[in-house]
Amino acid sequence: MLRDIERVLIDRASIDRRVDELGRAIVADLARDGAAGDDAELVIVPILTGAMILVADLIRHLPLKLRLELAGVSSYPGTSMESKGASMKHDLPPTLGGKHVLIVDDILDSGQTLDLVTRLVREMKPASLRTCVLLRKPGKARVNFTPDYVGFDIPDEFVVGYGLDYDGYYRNYPEIATLRPEAR
Ligand code: 5GP
Ligand code: MG
Repeated sequence: MLRDIERVLIDRASIDRRVDELGRAIVADLARDGAAGDDAELVIVPILTGAMILVADLIRHLPLKLRLELAGVSSYPGTSMESKGASMKHDLPPTLGGKHVLIVDDILDSGQTLDLVTRLVREMKPASLRTCVLLRKPGKARVNFTPDYVGFDIPDEFVVGYGLDYDGYYRNYPEIATLRPEAR
C-alpha cells in the first residue's frame, strides 16, 4: 500500500485538529436548536463506505444522545474516478422524521451524492437537517450544494485515505493523499 502513495495533502495531526473543531461547531449549533440536551435525539447518517473513518472519529467528539443510521449510495463503480451519478443501494430507515439529522460524507465532488440523500431525508420531515463533509473540491459541483460543515477545501485531484478508496483499497491509509499514476 505505502509504495502506491504519491503525496500527503493533509496529515493525521491536521485531520485530528479539524475533526475536533467540526465536533465543537456541530454541538454548538445543535445547542442553539435546543437539540443538545439529554432529551434531544440526534441521528447521524454516514454515507457508506467512505464516511466510516470520519464518523468513527467525529462521534467521539459529540457528547450527545445519538444513533447511527447508515446510508448506502453508489456513485463510483470499481476503478472509475468520476462520479457516474448517485443512486441509493437501499432505502433509508423510515425513522428520521422529527429527529435532528446530520448527514456525513467523506467528500463533496459533483455534489450529486449529498443532494440525493438530503432530498430523501428532507421528505421525511426531520426536526433539523445538516450536512458535514471532510473534504470539498471547490468548482467541481454540478449541483448547487453547500454543506453546513466542511473540513478542508482541496484541489481537484483524486485522493485516497481516511476512508476514501480507489477500487475499494486505501481506506485504511491514515492521511489524505494522492496515488502514484502507476497505482491507478
Ligand atoms: P459526488 O456525488 O459529490 O460527485 O461524489 C461524492 C462521492 O464520490 C464521495 O462519497 C466519494 O466516495 C467519491 N469521490 C469524489 N471525489 C473523490 C476523490 O478524490 N477520491 C475518492 N477516493 N473518492 C472520491
Ligand atoms: Mg463515497
